[in-house]
Amino acid sequence: MKAGVLALQGAFREHREILSTLGAETVDVRTPEQLAAIDLLVIPGGESTTMQHLLDSAGLREPLAAAIADGLAVLGTCAGLIVLAHEVLDGRADQVPLDAIDIVARRNAYGRQRDSFEADLDVSGLPGGTFRGVFIRAPAIETVGGAVEVLAEHNGRPVFAREGRVWVSAFHPELAGDFRVHERFLQEVA
Ligand code: GLN
Repeated sequence: MKAGVLALQGAFREHREILSTLGAETVDVRTPEQLAAIDLLVIPGGESTTMQHLLDSAGLREPLAAAIADGLAVLGTCAGLIVLAHEVLDGRADQVPLDAIDIVARRNAYGRQRDSFEADLDVSGLPGGTFRGVFIRAPAIETVGGAVEVLAEHNGRPVFAREGRVWVSAFHPELAGDFRVHERFLQEVA
């Protein structure tokens, strides 16, 4: 299993460390050549407008969309969720997401940086009790399409979901000191 982490911007190092700890061979992805050599991809948190800009300037948008359509497994966290969404609300006018999962995301839906928070989440199918969700200027999942499975909610709103091999979390599983979300993703897409 060769696990790539999109390393254009944001919190990619933490994801790589966890994936390595879990036994995956890991690689930073910054070019179409690196993208072509991986079995799964994590798109980290960061700043979604900047990340989308860098995707375009690196020539990664088209190959990434094609790879996902071809079955590449992807986990997008926070800004990564926004990049993968079908539609983005409160985004910048020129912000075009990849439309890889049938969700509508609202940027910064929980407020500003100082409104960042943590919450214990019941994640469906995750053994060992609740998972500590770290939400940092997090997006909300406003609506999900019929093929999307919601894996966790917070206050009645979805915060973790998947459609086929595309998984998204509004929180930062790489900051919980708990590897179970990555572990489950690896197990299920392997
Ligand atoms: N607010 C950021 C954005 O809109 C996402 C925050 C994060 O990834 N921690 O891109």
